[in-house]
Amino acid sequence: MGAHYIRVKVCALSIQSHTWVNLVMKELIDGTRQFKKNVYKTQKPLFQKLSKGQHPKALFITCSDSRIAPNLITQMQPGDLFVLRNAGNIVPPVSAGVTGQAATIEFAVNALGVKDIVICGHSQCGAIQALLDDPAKHKDLPTVLAWLEHAKPIRQMIDTLYHRMPEAKKLQKAIEQNVLLQLHNLQTLPAVAAKLASGGVRLHGWMYEFETGKMLAYSPKKDQFINVTKDVAGGVYNVRPLQKLAAG
Ligand SMILES: [Zn+2]
Repeated sequence: MGAHYIRVKVCALSIQSHTWVNLVMKELIDGTRQFKKNVYKTQKPLFQKLSKGQHPKALFITCSDSRIAPNLITQMQPGDLFVLRNAGNIVPPVSAGVTGQAATIEFAVNALGVKDIVICGHSQCGAIQALLDDPAKHKDLPTVLAWLEHAKPIRQMIDTLYHRMPEAKKLQKAIEQNVLLQLHNLQTLPAVAAKLASGGVRLHGWMYEFETGKMLAYSPKKDQFINVTKDVAGGVYNVRPLQKLAAG
């Protein structure tokens, strides 16, 4: 009797999940058809040009969060951005050894000749929230927690310096400081360090706000994130290590 009940439940669940998957895939497939018909056709010269090779204008490192659409929020064309994404827009430092992130960045800088690298965090980042949360809350995400170790100094910094802040402000501060930490990590990668030494690459720390659609950029002059303007287009050089950031 018990076994029968379980079988029925499993069956019902699998039918439900099947229907869901099919609806999603139908939407995706319809989208590809509409793209071919309505977008590819009207911009054929661009896509034909792209078929011959890529010459991206910038490397855009951001979170995997589905609410960020890099080309949309920067109004760039296909082929303009070389994009690297992961939970928390993290760049493991050189001490982490061979990583997919380091390989992607090296390719962008050395093979594609990209001269501008943007690390773009975003408001309400779930990865950074998880970093601040009690790890027991995310027992089912052991790989995510291990990955977030690359941003651990942020948690220590928040616990030490900003523990009195309201939770929402704490998260905002952690998201911003994480962008700076990852800019720092970026500079430890040999490909980036070599280009920085010769002035061949510019680093930028950005923060996208879902609530307003605004992009903020780190201003080294003001040591804070401000509305993105030409003033911050020159980039960030020699981002201070986090210990110094923590000390103010
Ligand atoms: Zn995120």
